Amino acid sequence: MNDGEDRLIGGEALPHDTVERADNALRPERLANFIGQGGGRANLETFIAAARDRGDAMDHTLLHGPPGLGKTTLAQIVSAELGVGFRATSGPVIARAGDLAALLTNLQPRDVLFIDEIHRLNPAVEEVLYPAMEDFQLDLIIGEGPSARSVRIDLPPFTLVGATTRAGLLTTPLRDRFGIQMRLQFYGRDELAVILANQATRLGMNLAGDGAAEIAGRARGTPRIAGRLLRRVRDIAAVDGHDEVTAAIADAALSRLEVDASGLDAMDRRYLGCLVENYAGGPVGVETLAAVLAEQRDMLEEVIEPYLLQTGLLMRTPRGRCLSTAGWAYLGITPPESATRQLDMLSDLGPDHDG
Ligand code: ADP
Repeated sequence: MNDGEDRLIGGEALPHDTVERADNALRPERLANFIGQGGGRANLETFIAAARDRGDAMDHTLLHGPPGLGKTTLAQIVSAELGVGFRATSGPVIARAGDLAALLTNLQPRDVLFIDEIHRLNPAVEEVLYPAMEDFQLDLIIGEGPSARSVRIDLPPFTLVGATTRAGLLTTPLRDRFGIQMRLQFYGRDELAVILANQATRLGMNLAGDGAAEIAGRARGTPRIAGRLLRRVRDIAAVDGHDEVTAAIADAALSRLEVDASGLDAMDRRYLGCLVENYAGGPVGVETLAAVLAEQRDMLEEVIEPYLLQTGLLMRTPRGRCLSTAGWAYLGITPPESATRQLDMLSDLGPDHDG
């Protein structure tokens, strides 16, 4: 089954994003070139400047939000702005406490250590991380059995930048150790158009203003998706012999890629269609939906649903997932009276707060 990994408009990094090293090539290096994220970005700028002026390591920072919104990019920018080294790893890769110890003891003072998917850290590793974050000390057990002894190693002060798509899965002690926490939001269409214009310049391609706006409108508020669509549109335009990508050319190319005007693809339409055809618009539990669609629950929650919720096509209620009035309109179907009644009742209940 399709688990979303090869999906053109999924926010998560795909193999070709890394193979083409497109993500890296398109990454802004300084905060000044990082578009959007309003207040969060401004705060970060202040914290960076303060740490730099004091000559201290910046406070540990937690970045959370859906994939492709710029967490890795921001972490790299923090190190560049502080003028310190950058080390990157990810939660599931650090299998044992010793792996973390090796990483930490190799840091230079004030370096940035970036741990992606930090909610997937092994609990034994997390235990070692606490004193390292708090006191810059490492407590390690060396040896086994009666001859085991514990040693304490002083670490250089460093900044841990943790990234997660699921802040709700972080343990409280870990979350509390991050002095700075920033939630990344989906980007507006204008912001994405600026990001696209910058990316086009980097790719040496000729993107008209209306072409950028067209792609931006279909990128689901996500810069990584914008970049990916831009590269595919560039390929199609080149093969068709156009040297400038206008709105009409972008529109034709994106339609060929089955990305519709709202940025929804076949998988989103399948999800919404399933809600309508099998459950008269809901409410229905996410486990049931996952089973019927033969997808992982995590995939639905992390990849498909965030954008459908954000656009208001889908509602998450205490009784389960439910197609909204806008969702019915998107599908071009008049909701049956039973669905309208459900919607009225559910809107009285308010949203679900399960994270
Ligand atoms: P995440 O770590 O949140 O999954 P990344 O930092 O890897 O996302 O960003 C994915 C892509 O989107 C990168 O190519 C990056 O250059 C681009 N990008 C993300 N946010 C921005 C932004 N605010 N301005 C410009 N480009 C961005």
